[in-house]
Amino acid sequence: MTEIEIKELLSKAQDPDLSLDLRSLDFIKSVTLNGNRLKLDLGLNNPNNPHTEDLKREIIAEVKKQYPDISDIEISFSQGITSHVERKKSNIMPQVKNTIAVASGKGGVGKSTVTVNLAISLMNAGARVGIIDADIYGPSIPLMMGIEARPAVQVINGKNKLIPVIQYGIKVMSIGFLMEKGQAIVWRGPMASSALKQFMSEVVWEELDFLLFDMPPGTGDIQLTLSQTLPLTGAVVVTTPQEISLADARKGYLMFEKVNVPTLGFIENMSYFLLKDGTKEYIFGEGGGKKLSDEFNTELFGEIPIVTDIRKCSDDGMPITLSKPDAEVAKIYSEISRKLINKVNLRNVESKSEELTIDI
Ligand code: ADP
Repeated sequence: MTEIEIKELLSKAQDPDLSLDLRSLDFIKSVTLNGNRLKLDLGLNNPNNPHTEDLKREIIAEVKKQYPDISDIEISFSQGITSHVERKKSNIMPQVKNTIAVASGKGGVGKSTVTVNLAISLMNAGARVGIIDADIYGPSIPLMMGIEARPAVQVINGKNKLIPVIQYGIKVMSIGFLMEKGQAIVWRGPMASSALKQFMSEVVWEELDFLLFDMPPGTGDIQLTLSQTLPLTGAVVVTTPQEISLADARKGYLMFEKVNVPTLGFIENMSYFLLKDGTKEYIFGEGGGKKLSDEFNTELFGEIPIVTDIRKCSDDGMPITLSKPDAEVAKIYSEISRKLINKVNLRNVESKSEELTIDI
């Protein structure tokens, strides 16, 4: 039995979460045939989706029907993350499957907080994740991730390369690593852009499913440099619900559109405060993120409440998704990361078929 035969056979099953032909999701991670024992590791968008057991039964029945000699079939599911097609063509960080800008129109809306918690929940979903902290105005990732270490330098093929700091399983490079503690640097545009480029070309990232960029707020040089240096998979725009923040988030969306970077979705942060009696106090107004996503026909990945522990955990250097995995907020984040993985897979598969059409 060859891998092609197995793919052919599995193509009859549909991923219930996406209703896509399973073959197109690059989803066969490994196939081991040992005598009459077959072991399959399959990558799914969401290995925990309630239909995986049905899928398993369907596959087993199909294999047994076509290959009656196989008596023992073991199927395991893990997170399947596809690669952005344009990414593969780029020679910068070729082993990074997807690059995502986490952006906001305004500062202080919780963009860095979202970046670290998203990174951790993507990792919990089985992805290999890195962060580039490109927020020249306030690189806060080292603080939020409790990083004291600095990247090591290694000589590879006669060139100095930087090894990212690994914290809680996430690879991190930050513009903050280039500053003395507590010191302020005024980053001029070209200087900041060249530091960002260095983070992409001179850092040993190795294999990653997602590299998240914590962008400076607004629509400046760094955004342009990034979109010109690298084909991004897309952007995630963080906003708070009030009009003053939405107006800037709109500008952020339009700027990405102008440079051909799709906004994959919005995240509304600080959506409400949960009062002791369980009612929600909409401090900054209600439904702003939803309004924005409807306006642009783009997904709203989630609404994150204002929770004291989110701030506390960040200040303590261990994001809430890691230090309190059972908290309601951690569940919201895991739902957001599931939706993001789905969206990325879907887009990657779609652009792959577009590519195929062009090839023909
Ligand atoms: P930005 O990156 O947009 O400038 P930060 O992520 O640095 O914003 O967040 C600003 C402050 O707000 C931080 O102190 C952070 O801990 C806090 N914060 C962010 N999101 C929340 C939230 N949902 N609940 C409580 N505090 C939050």
